[in-house]
Amino acid sequence: MPLTELTIDGFKSFAEKTKIKFDSGITGIVGPNGSGKSNITEAIRWVMGESSAKSLRGSNMKDVIFAGSEFRKPATHAEVALVFDNKKHELNFDADQVVVTRRILRSGDNEYLINKHSVRQRDVRALFMDSGISQDSLAIISQGRVDQILNSRPEDRRSLFEEAAGILHFKKQKEEASAQ
Ligand code: ATP
Ligand code: MG
Repeated sequence: MPLTELTIDGFKSFAEKTKIKFDSGITGIVGPNGSGKSNITEAIRWVMGESSAKSLRGSNMKDVIFAGSEFRKPATHAEVALVFDNKKHELNFDADQVVVTRRILRSGDNEYLINKHSVRQRDVRALFMDSGISQDSLAIISQGRVDQILNSRPEDRRSLFEEAAGILHFKKQKEEASAQ
């Protein structure tokens, strides 16, 4: 389903509110070393519910907030929003456009919103589950990920195929049911 827009504000090197529009098809991000390419893919994974600070190259989740530079003060919070065209209702949400937002404050307070309504992290994850674009899916391929997939255990590789086939959702439900 089409990701049409990404807004990054105060996240990592993006000190100022930055809007990136996506056309249909494959998007490649190019730029010199240290210009923020990986930070863009990390921003996307973050808003989709990434909970490991380490996998975002930090030690604490607050490390994603713009830390300041010679000429700029540190940001008070980080906010990332993804806009999806949901006219074909590929996301399990009854709206033609779905905006998912995540915000974190210096206090550590963290908030998720779907179309401006406050939701839980699990609601965001559920929204993307089986859409083929969850934060650890193959829709976002960052540096080193290809090697990681080739070298992963067969059962981990299998879960990628399960997600692509859209059965992960049922598997999670089964796990939850048997845990009860
Ligand atoms: P490469 O081509 O080397 O992979 P890249 O384009 O992927 O580079 P990134 O890793 O996305 O670059 O960006 C790194 C930059 O982001 C560094 O300059 C780093 O200082 C900056 N950065 C990371 N976290 C923060 C933060 N919290 N506040 C300010 N700047 C940050
Ligand atoms: Mg990089």
